Amino acid sequence: MTSIIEFNDVTVKYNGDPALDGVTIALGAGAIGLLGPNGAGKSTFIKTVLGFTRAVKGTVNIFGMPMPDRAIEVRHSLGYMPEIEVSSPKVSAVAFLTYCGRIFGMRRVDALERAHEVLNYVNLGDSRYRTMETYSTGMLQRVKLAQAILHDPKLLLLDEPTNGLDPDGRIEILDLVSDIAKRPNVTVIVSSHLLPDVQHVCKQVVMIDKGKVVHSGAICDLTIPRLEFYEMRVRDSDIAFVKEVRAAGYECARLHPSNMLLVRAPHENNVQALFQIARTCNAQVRHFQPARRSLEDAFLQAMGKE
Ligand code: ADP
Repeated sequence: MTSIIEFNDVTVKYNGDPALDGVTIALGAGAIGLLGPNGAGKSTFIKTVLGFTRAVKGTVNIFGMPMPDRAIEVRHSLGYMPEIEVSSPKVSAVAFLTYCGRIFGMRRVDALERAHEVLNYVNLGDSRYRTMETYSTGMLQRVKLAQAILHDPKLLLLDEPTNGLDPDGRIEILDLVSDIAKRPNVTVIVSSHLLPDVQHVCKQVVMIDKGKVVHSGAICDLTIPRLEFYEMRVRDSDIAFVKEVRAAGYECARLHPSNMLLVRAPHENNVQALFQIARTCNAQVRHFQPARRSLEDAFLQAMGKE
């Protein structure tokens, strides 16, 4: 696998304090979540990829080119959606994006055509001529995404893309990001402190805490089955079933918000006994499968907070 992003023992400091501390990582194509609590170093990681901040120790290569020395070349193939607001309230989205296209070096006519294309893609076609002061937070986030993909970059860096959005707005942005990440040879880095957002879009995750990478790998490897634990949902007599299961000596908890039951059955014959208890209570088993560890559990464990 060719690495798109390569950090080798990278330390970045602000006023002498490390924001990244000896980070070594190699990332290839696909959607990769950058997870960590506020202040962990996610934005600094992204700014170091962009060449905005310089490592005081170690080396950074993007598309095989050293940063920030080759920043101008690298940025031709790089799109960035910053956490902060970028739009100008008094101009229309189409004027703003055409201007961004000109900054990327496009001819005016090409920039205008591309602005219309990406605005349709992010579902802002109908509002393209309105000044952006009339836009909702969700619309402004989609303008930010539109400017990041305007020049068809091979590497897209999205810093907290769902910031300030309601649940519908979040899903809308995340679905767009998932769609972009499916394009061949495109790498999308999604920085977030929200685990469900990363899980919605990414197959891989890099976990950062206090400037260090505490874990990286495939999400499916992190959410491994939890031995002896099963998820169950029963219909009818659900409460009686829980009572009987506990009376028979099993640990049984109710999961939120799914309302699913989590039951511990250490042996194979315990599993059969659970079905027997359900029959006795006239409860229909509608769902039964080995429980998996949640990404949240894996994240807390990686940060030593299990
Ligand atoms: P995250 O994006 O995970 O919230 P940041 O990369 O923004 O984390 O910040 C990492 C650390 O670096 C924090 O302790 C933050 O206060 C500090 N930091 C970030 N930017 C600056 C800056 N421009 N000047 C001084 N300290 C900064």
